[in-house]
Amino acid sequence: MTTYQEMIQSKLTDLNQKIEAACARSGRDPQEVKIVAVTKYVDADAVGQILDAGVTHIGENRVQDGVPKYEAHGDKGVWHFIGHLQTNKVKDVVGRFTYIHSLDRLSLAEAINKRAEALDIIVPCFLQINISGEETKFGLDPNDILAFVEACSNMKHIRIAGCMTMAPVVDDPEEARPVFRGLREWQKRLQALNLPNVTVEELSMGMSGDFEVAIEEGATFIRLGSILVKP
Ligand SMILES: *Cc1c(COP(=O)(O)O)cnc(C)c1O
Repeated sequence: MTTYQEMIQSKLTDLNQKIEAACARSGRDPQEVKIVAVTKYVDADAVGQILDAGVTHIGENRVQDGVPKYEAHGDKGVWHFIGHLQTNKVKDVVGRFTYIHSLDRLSLAEAINKRAEALDIIVPCFLQINISGEETKFGLDPNDILAFVEACSNMKHIRIAGCMTMAPVVDDPEEARPVFRGLREWQKRLQALNLPNVTVEELSMGMSGDFEVAIEEGATFIRLGSILVKP
């Protein structure tokens, strides 16, 4: 009988081959691509086994589910908050989750900065950008990015570590390519501003259905849920 942990290990072997192939196609170093295991589909016990299988990065999109999992296994990994974040929940996230992938408005930036200042830490955040323009998606409107980044640049306890986007759900992952390419263009534009606290070295993009295309377009964190953690 195969245990859950063994199943995760064999999926990781398979995924690492696909990551290497996508890197080979695009002339990238596979070391630049990190898997964030999105564990929203599984319980805290499974998260422990995923970490024991050798995964470092854990992603959760809801505070009420993510915090208990962090309390159970926090010290075994690096935690990423990837979902929409309400300002009143910031106090539960900052100090536990290392990265916040869903920075999309000024009130949230101010709340994160304030909480981080109280804890005397700097929180690396991703600007979530709504590249596809889908109305149902969270994320900054591209027209608002420059003013927003300038405001964040003055907040000493936030670092803009990267950009994040959600591609539309499509049958053919090729259709997501322009969205990923658009995010990489924003990364270059933001890096060229040379603003303090805006380093933008990371690109959080690609999920189970489209991660290979995202890697070809420069992803450094791929957020994998169903393809990795579902039994
Ligand atoms: C659920 C989720 C994912 C992972 O989705 P899969 O298609 O299951 O890989 C990635 N990012 C965010 C923000 C999510 O909520």
